[in-house]
Formats: sequence, C-alpha cells, structure tokens
Amino acid sequence: MPEPSLPKAEKSIVKGCLEERLRIRKSLRILVLKVGSQILTDESGALSPRAFGRIARQVALLRTEGIRVVLVSSGAIAAGREKIGLGKKPLSLALKQAAASAGQSSLMIQWERALGRHGIHTAQILLTPSDIVDRERFTNLERTTETLLSLGIVPVVNENDAVATFEIRFGDNDRLSAYVAGLIRADCLLLLSDVSHLYTADPRVVRDAKKIACIHGISPEIERMAGVSRSGLGTGGMASKVSTALWANGWGLPVGVLKGDIPSGIFRFFEGRTGTLFETHEKLPSNRKIWIGHFSRPMGGFRLDMGAAKALSEGKRSLLGAGVVGVEGQFLPRDPVYLIDPQGREVARGIARTGSAEWMDGMQGILVHRNDLVLTGQYHQGRKGER
Ligand code: GLU
Repeated sequence: MPEPSLPKAEKSIVKGCLEERLRIRKSLRILVLKVGSQILTDESGALSPRAFGRIARQVALLRTEGIRVVLVSSGAIAAGREKIGLGKKPLSLALKQAAASAGQSSLMIQWERALGRHGIHTAQILLTPSDIVDRERFTNLERTTETLLSLGIVPVVNENDAVATFEIRFGDNDRLSAYVAGLIRADCLLLLSDVSHLYTADPRVVRDAKKIACIHGISPEIERMAGVSRSGLGTGGMASKVSTALWANGWGLPVGVLKGDIPSGIFRFFEGRTGTLFETHEKLPSNRKIWIGHFSRPMGGFRLDMGAAKALSEGKRSLLGAGVVGVEGQFLPRDPVYLIDPQGREVARGIARTGSAEWMDGMQGILVHRNDLVLTGQYHQGRKGER
C-alpha cells in the first residue's frame, strides 16, 4: 500500500490531555488493540504464554464493562521461525511467508488459550489490502466483524502474509489496525509495542529527551519525527506508528501508543499514567465515507478547473461537467475516482456517476454527486469537521 500522505496543518504538541483520555475511556464501546510481535515473544524469540496472558486479562476486564475488543496481532512470523527452526537470521520473502503460514495457527492457539481462560472465544481474520479496497469485500468484512462482536467473540486479525505480495501489502500491522478500526468504527486504537512513548528525541542518544504525552495534529517537529525512521524516535517502528496515528486522526480516530508488556498498561494509559495519545477532534464519518475518502483506490479521476476545486472545497456541492477540464485513467460509472485541482493536488474522492469514456463522448450533468464525495488532503484540512 502506498504511504497515506500526512495532511498539513498548523498544530502542536499538547501537554497532558488527561481529560481527553478520560473522555475516550468513558465513551469507549469498541477498542482495537494492535499487539506487536516484540511483546508476544521472549528473549529467545519464542511466543511467550505469559505475555498473551497479560493482555488477555486486560481484555477480559474491559469486557466486564461491556467494551468490545478486536485484536490485531502480529507474531505469526516469529512463531513460524520457532516452529521451523529458522532462528533469528534475516529471511527471504518466501521464507517469511512460509514462516507466517506455519506460525499463524500457533499464534491463534496462544490467543485461544489465553482468552479461553476467561471464557472468551476467538475468531481468526486474515486480510490483504484487496479485501478492504474492494467495496463489496469491505462490506462483508464489516458485517462479519460486527456479527462476531455481537456474539461476544474476540476477532484476532493479522495480515494474510502467505498471499500478500511485496507491492500489495499493508506492510505492517500498525497500518492494518487503523484500517480495521475504521471499518468497525472503533472509538480508539491502541498500538501496544515495546515503546512506551513518543519522545522529543532519541532517548538512547539525547539524554534529556522528553516524553510526549499528547499530540494534537501535525507540527513540523512531528512531521520530522514521522518521516525519519530511526532518528528522534526511540525505535525504528515509531515512524510507522506516527504516520498511522496522524492518518487515522484525520478521519476521527484517536490513537494511543504505549508499552504493551506492562500489567494493566491499557488502564494506566487511560488514566494518563503512560503512553502517548494522538488526539483528534474530527468527527468520525459514516463507514461509506471512510471507505470513499480513505480506503478506496481510485484508478483515475477528473481534473477540475480552479473554480470548481474551490467551490467543492467550500461546501457540500456535486461535481458538474462544467467544472471539469479533463480525465485521468479509465473508470466506469460507480468506480471510485479522485478529483484534482489544476496543480494536481487532490481535492476530494468520490464515486463516479459518469465513466471516463462517457465524459470523453461529451456527457455533462452531475459527474459525482455530493453524497458520494469526501474532501481529502489539504482541502479537507481547510474545512475541519466537514464530511
Ligand atoms: N504479519 C506479521 C506477523 O504476524 C507481522 C507484521 C507486523 O508486525 O507489522 O508476523
């Protein structure tokens, strides 16, 4: 999957945000927990039943409060390495995929055991990006997940590594967990890893690096942290966490980053005692609009004149033929399309009423209806809360 671009905005690091954590905690109905391999394995790299137990206990406690939990769990490759005896050496793509296939069942056995101790059933969901990019599969996935949750089952999601190709894969489970959280309209996503906070600089290098408790949107400083993989971030994985969090914030999902191997870490996070919260005041749009604006993969779109780009970005308007100066790519009616301004910047995404061929044949009228249109990129940033 291509990296979602970070929206530009003038915002900053905010201290504390305890109130916001308490507010999220109070209204929590659905929580997605992304669990990284580092916290599910011991020093030898083997899956650690104790680690699974620690998280399962917290899931069980959350459920006594009626909170539904979805786990996005890594660890298949680690489990496969152990099973096949591959050690810790770097693996070729083929071996990684083989290890993931061999290890996925071991991973599920651990979750079944750990959650089963609390009388909780689990269900396995393996995904590739095409399952989310395709609107029909997306809808099915949404229905299956909702049904599982309503049955009191904890879905355990992972990337379907055996079939995911190098070019077309989520790449890491941080990104996958944000997709899943959007899909089920979660109230919060927590990324549990071996990093306790986002820091102002790399704490291994800079002695007085400060922990950041709360981030509200993007400042040049945060962008730098998001862009540079190792510097200033504590671990290599932080860049992916920051970009995932900011992307998900853009469509209304608050994201927490915390250390996953501390007892009661999730509860401590909501009490403001650990972790970094990426807070957002965006309103969560409908699932359909999340899909159009953030998950769809348009194969083409309409090029707008400046007047149309401005008009669309200012309010709820449909795209009419008069504002279009060209098409890019090929698409049919009902395909997702992007709408770009004369500088090539994305204004919005939508569902086409008119295909590219029909437009070339001179079809006018409504090309994208306003109900099928979502402002994206900079244009979205210019109109907070407008969906
Ligand atoms: N799907 C991989 C696994 O289960 C993990 C990818 C990741 O950790 O981001 O091992």
